[in-house]
Amino acid sequence: MTVKRYLTAALLLLALMPGLALADNAVFEELGSKAARAAMEQLNVEKGGSNLLILTDAGHAMVDGQTTQAAIKGLTEESGNSIGDGNLFQVLRAYWKPLWFYFFNKATGEAVFMQANDQSLNKTPEEFSALSDDQIFSKISKANVNLNYMLNHTDEGNATFADAFNGNEFALVGMSNVWAEGGSFDFLQATCFHDHLCPGVTSGYMLARYVEDKLPITSSSESYKVIACRPWCKDDMLQMRWDATPGKSGMFVMALTDAEVKALAEKYNQSDVAGVYIRWNSTANQGDAMVLTFNWTKVYELTGTGAGVWTGPSWGSKLVMDMEMLPYWNQPEDFVTTIKEFAVDQATLAKLQNAGMHPLKVAGVM
Ligand SMILES: [Zn+2]
Repeated sequence: MTVKRYLTAALLLLALMPGLALADNAVFEELGSKAARAAMEQLNVEKGGSNLLILTDAGHAMVDGQTTQAAIKGLTEESGNSIGDGNLFQVLRAYWKPLWFYFFNKATGEAVFMQANDQSLNKTPEEFSALSDDQIFSKISKANVNLNYMLNHTDEGNATFADAFNGNEFALVGMSNVWAEGGSFDFLQATCFHDHLCPGVTSGYMLARYVEDKLPITSSSESYKVIACRPWCKDDMLQMRWDATPGKSGMFVMALTDAEVKALAEKYNQSDVAGVYIRWNSTANQGDAMVLTFNWTKVYELTGTGAGVWTGPSWGSKLVMDMEMLPYWNQPEDFVTTIKEFAVDQATLAKLQNAGMHPLKVAGVM
C-alpha cells in the first residue's frame, strides 16, 4: 500500500467512525444537561416537578454550522420536562442567533436565563465535561418574572427589562406568565413560532376561533385561505394553526397605507380591518368569505392600557394586555366583527390574491 493510498484509507475510516461524527451532539446534549442541572438548583425544583417551564431556541440556533437539537435531549433527561408534557417549548429564532436556555418556576415566579458561550462548545466531550458553568455560559441571570410581582417592584422589573435575558425579556416574561395561568399548548406553540407572546398573537387566536365557529371545516376538501390585509402579529398564529402558509397559497399578505388604515378605522367604528377569511373547497372550486375587523380600541379600554391612560412602566402595558385578554379567549365575538360576507368562485379568489388588485376593494369594503 502506498502512502497516498494508506492516507486515503485512514481518512475514510475516520469519516466513517460514528464516535467522531457524534462528538458535537454529545457536547450539545451535555450542555443541555448542565444548563438544566444548574438552573434547577438555583430555582430549587426537582426533576419531574410540575412547576418548571423550559424555553429554548435550541434546534433553531446553530453554532459554528452545527445544529443544536441535541441540547433538548439533555434538557429533557435532566429535568423530565418535554414537549409531550407541555412544559418545554422551542422558541423560533434565526439560526445565527445565540443559543440560550430559560427556566421558570411558576411556584415562586423566579426564572433563570443562560446563554451558551460558543467558544466552550468547540471541545471534545471529555474536555467539555470538565468546564465550569462560568466557562460554558457567557450569561447566567436570575429574576422574578411574575407580572404582578414585577408591577409591584418596578425597580426590579426595570432591571430585568434593561438586559437580564439578552433582549429576550418580553418574549420570555410573556410566555411564562400565560403558561402559568394555564395558557393552552396550541396557543403557546403558535406563540413560539411568532417569537414572542404579544396581544397581536392573542387577537389571531380570537380571529381563528371566530372563523372556525362561523365557517367550520367540514370536509377534507376544505381549508382556510387568508388575505392578510392589513397584516399584524395575528397572521403568524393563523399560519401555524391552519397550516395557512404563503408557500402553499394559504396566505397572501398585503399592507395598507397609513391613510387607508385611518379611513377604515373611521368607517368601521374604530376597529381595525384584519383581512378576508375564506373557507375554500378545492374540489368544488368555490368558497365562503368573511371580511373581519378586530376592535383594538375596546381592548385598550378594557385593559386600561391605551395611550395617555397607562401609567405603569413602558414594558408593562403589552404584558398586562396579554394577561387580561386571557378570559376572553373563548369570547371572540366581543372583539371580532363581520363587516361583509360573500361567496367566492375561482375568478374572485384570483382577484383577491392578485398583486395588481386591492383585496379590500375587490371585497367591496373600501
Ligand atoms: Zn407580536
